[in-house]
Amino acid sequence: MKILLKDMLCVIDDKAVRSDIYINGGTILAVGEKPLDFIADKIISGRDRLAIPALINCHTHSYMSVFRNIADDLPFNEWLFDRIMPLENIIDSSDAYWGCLLACIEMIRSGTSTFCDMHMFPNTTPEAALKSGMRAVVTRGLSGGGGDTGGSRRINEAIAEIEMFSGEELLSFMIAPHAVYTCDREYLLKAVKLAEKLSLPLNTHLSESAFEVSSCISENGLTPVGYLDSLGFFRQKTLAAHCVHITEEDMDILAENSVSVAVNAKSNLKLGNGIAPVKRLLEKGVNICLGTDGAASNNSLNLFSEMNFNSLLHKGISGDASAVSAADVFSFATENAANALGIEKTGKIKAGYKADIAILDTSCPQMQPMNNPVSALCYSANGGEVVTTIINGKIVMEDRVLTEIDEQEVYYNIERIKKKLKEKR
Ligand SMILES: [Zn+2]
Repeated sequence: MKILLKDMLCVIDDKAVRSDIYINGGTILAVGEKPLDFIADKIISGRDRLAIPALINCHTHSYMSVFRNIADDLPFNEWLFDRIMPLENIIDSSDAYWGCLLACIEMIRSGTSTFCDMHMFPNTTPEAALKSGMRAVVTRGLSGGGGDTGGSRRINEAIAEIEMFSGEELLSFMIAPHAVYTCDREYLLKAVKLAEKLSLPLNTHLSESAFEVSSCISENGLTPVGYLDSLGFFRQKTLAAHCVHITEEDMDILAENSVSVAVNAKSNLKLGNGIAPVKRLLEKGVNICLGTDGAASNNSLNLFSEMNFNSLLHKGISGDASAVSAADVFSFATENAANALGIEKTGKIKAGYKADIAILDTSCPQMQPMNNPVSALCYSANGGEVVTTIINGKIVMEDRVLTEIDEQEVYYNIERIKKKLKEKR
């Protein structure tokens, strides 16, 4: 399908430019001058519209949307081990699938094209992503070793899922040992070996809580970052979520090994885990991207909120109003995120790049006057301005109507799961 975004204000390299955007299939064919023989199948008017590269969520657990607002105001260990894990034993794959689709609706509605998902129900994330039209990096969470006998099964499930969906254009994969506190040494090494064998990046939770760090130091004599480094983990391209409790030395290790860090500011605060040192990581040259984490610990998957929060938070704690600028957080949610996920030619509105574009309505008070679109995206927008989301050249939401997902069917099933969880928990 050929789409023309006509005379539209666009965010290109942090600047606002009024231009035409020509889309052919999954690619942005041209920005500005009309390509020869281009006849649009569809024209979207740029009147009162702002086009941005669609946002990219680098850390979530989409199935957890079924647990939204179910376990709040609890410390991390109690939240995870006493509340969330027992709930995970109540839901089945079908429930997880509906949770993923609910997450996809929320992400598409707030201008997100791509998500990196750590899941535990085989095939549910790929199936939901394919249904929704979203781009996804699928990572089967792996835990094992010690007394846990399910580790091998989880690895086999990860391999089977990768084999089953590897031909899908919108899907890619990482190998995801869940964390140093849920995988023993041998199991972590097994996961690294698998990533090397399949030439896939690694994805893990890292230094999320103070407890994780103190127990890793007492068991291994090293911080979680130092420990993974000692295992050769970072020889493989790595995306690490959180990195809240990290030392200067840890940051040097992350920078030297080009580890990307997915910051989940709201989730970390909500669980009382603290604040990742984003300003310092930036100074060290670490590639930073944004994650929402799951809806059980945020409790939303809205990257506009995350951009806003990250920028304000680091100004506040550093006392430096220039720290973590609007342009910084916008890059975290677009270009940096594409780098972190290894998805080439994504995260910019540029000829030859993937046609992943979110279009916002600017005819609302919080977007007027449009003095600086990047500032508006970070400080004024709430995500509800997104009217149209295009992913890989396909319009998955047009004028706020989802084209691929039957929303009412999803909400019906989510209500059913809510009742089931209420009865069984
Ligand atoms: Zn997580």
